[in-house]
Amino acid sequence: MITTQQAIDYLRDPICEGLSTKEKLKLHEEAVVMAVEALEKQIPKEPVYKKDDIYVKNQFVELPHCPACNWEVPTGDMHCFMCGQAIDWGENNDTE
Ligand SMILES: [Zn+2]
Repeated sequence: MITTQQAIDYLRDPICEGLSTKEKLKLHEEAVVMAVEALEKQIPKEPVYKKDDIYVKNQFVELPHCPACNWEVPTGDMHCFMCGQAIDWGENNDTE
């Protein structure tokens, strides 16, 4: 497992002097997987509504959660605070 910084360093300069072909291939594969995951989070996804432990007016309230990491996302936030996933609230912000 490589760090995010190692992935960035590799993608910026994939020459990797001193590494064997096998080591380069492993670094390449992990860096590409991390880059794709980061890019995918830029595609807005709809939040997942779940009944949480908040009880208002005698009923549980459904709160929006990040579709990638399950973190609760305040309505209207453009990105998940925890993982950076872009959130698609829909054009009219209809939460039903
Ligand atoms: Zn998230």
